[in-house]
Amino acid sequence: MQEHLDQLVFAPSLAARHAEMDGELRRARGRGVRDDADQCPRLEVQPRTRPQRAEDRLGRQVDELLHDWIGVRGLVDALHVRVAEKLATQLFALLVHLAHGHDRPPWIRVAPRPAGPQPRDGLRRAPRIGKIGRIVCHSPPCRARCTPSRGRSASRRAAWERGPRPEARRSTVVASPEDEGRLTDVRVATWQGESRFTLDDAPEPVAGPGQVVVAVHAAGICGTDVHATQGLFPWKPPLVLGHEYTGVVRAVGRGVSRSLVGRLVGCEPSYGCGKCAECEAGRVSQCPQCVRVGGFAERVALPARNVHPLPRGLDPVTAAMTEPAACCLAGLETFRMPRGATVLVIGGGIMGLVTMVLARRRGARRLILSDPIEERRQIARHLGASMVIDPVHENLRDKVMELTGGRGADVVCEAVGKPELVAEAVGMTKPTGFFQLVGVNPKGSRLALDLWDVHFREIRIGGAFGRGTAYRRALTLMPKLGLKRLVTARFPLEQIGEAFAHAAAGHGVKTMITPAKA
Ligand SMILES: [Zn+2]
Ligand SMILES: [Zn+2]
Repeated sequence: MQEHLDQLVFAPSLAARHAEMDGELRRARGRGVRDDADQCPRLEVQPRTRPQRAEDRLGRQVDELLHDWIGVRGLVDALHVRVAEKLATQLFALLVHLAHGHDRPPWIRVAPRPAGPQPRDGLRRAPRIGKIGRIVCHSPPCRARCTPSRGRSASRRAAWERGPRPEARRSTVVASPEDEGRLTDVRVATWQGESRFTLDDAPEPVAGPGQVVVAVHAAGICGTDVHATQGLFPWKPPLVLGHEYTGVVRAVGRGVSRSLVGRLVGCEPSYGCGKCAECEAGRVSQCPQCVRVGGFAERVALPARNVHPLPRGLDPVTAAMTEPAACCLAGLETFRMPRGATVLVIGGGIMGLVTMVLARRRGARRLILSDPIEERRQIARHLGASMVIDPVHENLRDKVMELTGGRGADVVCEAVGKPELVAEAVGMTKPTGFFQLVGVNPKGSRLALDLWDVHFREIRIGGAFGRGTAYRRALTLMPKLGLKRLVTARFPLEQIGEAFAHAAAGHGVKTMITPAKA
């Protein structure tokens, strides 16, 4: 109500003021005084409309066309240029948008613009849509490249029509700056038979299509390597041993992402033909044409699928034990671990200890480990063993039966590789239990076993050779297993002989060769 009263009071005086100002303005104009119309309180400001720039240009072109007496045909051509330009720009923007966010460059083929009336000479031509051959997304930033559609040979044109071969999308071999200038030879430690090793210069490995070159950071000595030098494993010298290694990717071949260069990776040390039934099932170690790439070398070339970036929190020396861990995991994955199982592991070497740790992760509750070396029993305690047994001073069988109420363990893993120990250990497995061969017995070993006992008590005996398909799963688990303490000695590549002597003497758990200076 008060507002209405205010309006009633003030409205007449405002109208009078406007009339007064109008009179003043008219008088001022008559006297030649400056026009202050924009000071008028009743001034209405109309928005000024500015034609769009494209319309300006089009307008200018139309003006020019008309001015030049080109006529209606020229006007149609000018409109054609504008519409085609607009469509091409929008299509291009859409393609760039689609390409953005992909880590591989998508190839996009666009049908060339259908033949039709072309703009007459002298006018700017519409961009040819068919020119947009490839959009490469480097995000960020997202960049687009055009493949010229003219002047190329028939074969290049055909290749462009096909698009890139999958393995050839990125075809650059990259070497890291610190390697430049010294990529000439690479040192490898060659096993020459028995316990003899030589340090040789070999040609620098080259990353072929689909391959990477890895500078080896750490390579573990496996019990199998030691057995080979003792004549207990059927490998023939000369040979570059070492199948447990990690390193840094130094170069990539055609078809391999450059983002791998400089990354720490765990290496699967062998690959198969890729065609046989074993390869298709992922059992590369069973492929008749399996190729093993020895890691006791400064650099090795491997298929890119064999290298896996290390997970966060895993150092490259500990990660070198991923391969034996994968072998243990592949063995444990051959059967279903009974929930809350009691697991007896005989042998506290790397395979026994890792098997014990992985058994817990697979549901075992009580872990019993037997080893005559106190240092290993100590490590087993740290890794979670419920009970450790010294078989030299205690009767292993009596102790196990005492701990399991006379039934035996649900799962028994023999991780030493002695046939007589295997025969004894089968007797410590409970009825319907699992017996797992983890240690590698010498070739030709015979098992003196009471087969009636195996049949009557329904013991399942199994084993696994190699990592199967378990490498990546093992690598994911590695940071959680606490295995760092298992690396008990490191030697440079030059001292590989001493390193093997150290490992063969049974010192510590895992002996590492470190070709790259840490
Ligand atoms: Zn091994
Ligand atoms: Zn194969």
